[in-house]
Amino acid sequence: QWIFLGGEFVKKEDAVVSVYDHGFLYGDGVFEGIRVYSGNVFRLDAHLKRLYESAQSIMLKIPYTQEEMTQLIVETVRKNQLESAYIRVVVSRGKGNLGLDPASCSNPNVIIIAEELTMYPKELYENGIKIASVASRRNRPDVLSPQIKSLNYLNNILVKLEANQAGVQEALMLNDQGYVTEGSADNIFIVKNGVIKTPPIYLGALEGITRNAIIEVARAKGYEVQETPFGRHDVYVADEVFLTGTAVEVIAVIDVDGRQIGNGKPGKITNELLKEFRKLVTTDGEA
Ligand code: PLP
Repeated sequence: QWIFLGGEFVKKEDAVVSVYDHGFLYGDGVFEGIRVYSGNVFRLDAHLKRLYESAQSIMLKIPYTQEEMTQLIVETVRKNQLESAYIRVVVSRGKGNLGLDPASCSNPNVIIIAEELTMYPKELYENGIKIASVASRRNRPDVLSPQIKSLNYLNNILVKLEANQAGVQEALMLNDQGYVTEGSADNIFIVKNGVIKTPPIYLGALEGITRNAIIEVARAKGYEVQETPFGRHDVYVADEVFLTGTAVEVIAVIDVDGRQIGNGKPGKITNELLKEFRKLVTTDGEA
């Protein structure tokens, strides 16, 4: 396996980063997770836009243009001879001294990893997952924007730990006012009386690229989709619940905090949207 690191392709065993990299010392950097389906990189432009906007927001200058980055990502996939893959792009602040001031870091570190992805086992896509609301809250958007996909994912790791402790697959993260925001690394949708709802991003969710694709797909299918605030009660009494994300794609939720959702099986609309999404990902991308 070849990994792009420090301006060249190196073997996986040799892909190591300095202990003085501020990405390691302080979580100072940004990242993206991207999928390749049958040789198509799904919505690479949207992912790169988000990466460059995250970098802009934290004053991190990515040493490649978006076009160059596109080439490097495609090359990484080709070099590893992958038809379907998960790509991780990381841009860290680079090596500096031990102080947290980014001024000591002069060379941002660009890393591209492409490998086959094993997310949840197939049975969970067929049967659905359980989620639980957790005590940790989504950080407030006015303090630290959830739109910055930074290397500082401690908030999300804490909620994942809580989900693990609760014995469920994923966490339901609320904001400081108790409104539903998202999972640890995925957006949430509910379906009630045929209407599809997802939290507006201003409540504190990352504007997921899969989320946006699902909204498009659902509207094209004639469904009404509302970006509207809701609380845990609305999730408990929903007809269907599902999560979306680059890694997870679309997965049904059949239990929330011990409340069975619908008949305890993945819902009809969820399955329909998953099918449409799978169609979309093989046609909408760059080869
Ligand atoms: N929410 C968070 C916190 C994430 O890290 C991710 C993963 O990227 C998502 C949602 C889903 O976003 P996307 O569909 O762009 O992968």
